[in-house]
Amino acid sequence: MTEYSFEKSYAMLEVARQYIPNGIYGPRTPTFMTYGSYPCFIDHGKGSHIWDVDGNEYIDYMCSFGTNILGICNEEIDQEAIRQMQKGDCFTLPSSRWNEMAEYMVNLIEGQDWVVFGKNGSDVTSFATTIARGYTGKNKVIMAHGAYHGAHFWCTHSDFGIPKEYHDHVLYFNYNDLDELKTLIDENRGDVAAIMLTPFHHPALGDMVMPAQGFYKEIREICNRDGILMIIDDIRCGFRLNPHGSHVYFGAEPDMVCFGKAMANGYPIAALTGKENLKTTAGTAYFTGTHFFSAVPMAASLACMKIIVRDGVTDYINEMGTILKSGIQQQAASQGIHINYTGHPAIPFMRFVGDDDFSVSRYFCGEAAKRGVFLHPHHNWFLSAAHSADDIQKTLQVTEECFALTKKEFKK
Ligand code: PMP
Repeated sequence: MTEYSFEKSYAMLEVARQYIPNGIYGPRTPTFMTYGSYPCFIDHGKGSHIWDVDGNEYIDYMCSFGTNILGICNEEIDQEAIRQMQKGDCFTLPSSRWNEMAEYMVNLIEGQDWVVFGKNGSDVTSFATTIARGYTGKNKVIMAHGAYHGAHFWCTHSDFGIPKEYHDHVLYFNYNDLDELKTLIDENRGDVAAIMLTPFHHPALGDMVMPAQGFYKEIREICNRDGILMIIDDIRCGFRLNPHGSHVYFGAEPDMVCFGKAMANGYPIAALTGKENLKTTAGTAYFTGTHFFSAVPMAASLACMKIIVRDGVTDYINEMGTILKSGIQQQAASQGIHINYTGHPAIPFMRFVGDDDFSVSRYFCGEAAKRGVFLHPHHNWFLSAAHSADDIQKTLQVTEECFALTKKEFKK
């Protein structure tokens, strides 16, 4: 298979570095993947495929870190967005989409009675903690070690330039360890406002973990007993497990749920839903942003959510993801390579056993990128409704070759 090269991408990165700190920052930087084996810039995309600035084509399993659930340039969604764009996007007052969007979403998401809209996931995870603190009059928020809830001060993994006091009211427990959770609550009795959880544990740089049997039932009981709110951060899983919220998939009964990423197929919008008893507090706490009210992403999101329901998208991506999973597992096993393939098939995470610094994974995924399959070496992947059975077969041809190369390179 011919390997790609990336001259234009890396030349553009040099130019970017002249004007932008690090050229590209955050997790989109090529240093976060396999430097030299990935492109740095994308020219265009369609469906499940992307083309970089050097003209190389990829089957994309990152979907812009999850947003592109129906594929890039989905015509129905873009038509709705264009229709709204022609009427205008940002106004001083909310558009007529405001009510349409709110009504649809509140009816769609199970067990939730109101909604507010932001732009990024971090907007709504943070606002959920504000509501929880305002409602309970308590300060502490408990989350699982390794969980990612955004880039705001209280939850970012970085401590650079951030006073440590911002983390003072955040407590951590090991996912699924209910004894540890109860001990934390006992030690902070009367001061725990909320427990924030992703639907299943998808920690940064770690294997994914499903909730243990009875986990959510017990969390609900603890919350009811101690006056703590349960917040589900469905920003990454949302609409990939169940169109009515991933809490439905796991039978959880949260007080609030955070959405973002896939809810508008890439148009910028996030949402927080909540139970009736929290509505007054949600209206008292201050929440705004200049672009929170823009109408185009709402038009796109409405179309996106309707298509997800209409087309049975969650079932389809589960099916495609399951073919990918079993293909990869079989290839690894037949070559005697030990991998962990964890999470839900629509949001899988693959890891080589013992590959603590992800160097094997960086090599494997870098080789795959050079052969037209865009995977991430240490972040979970995402399936979309645009991934076809043919895409999966082509992907498996590439991964087979990459497993063989990895075996040779690392004498595995
Ligand atoms: N929560 C989870 C579970 C996420 O995966 C992310 C984004 N990766 C966020 C919150 C933050 O979302 P955003 O980057 O849109 O602020």
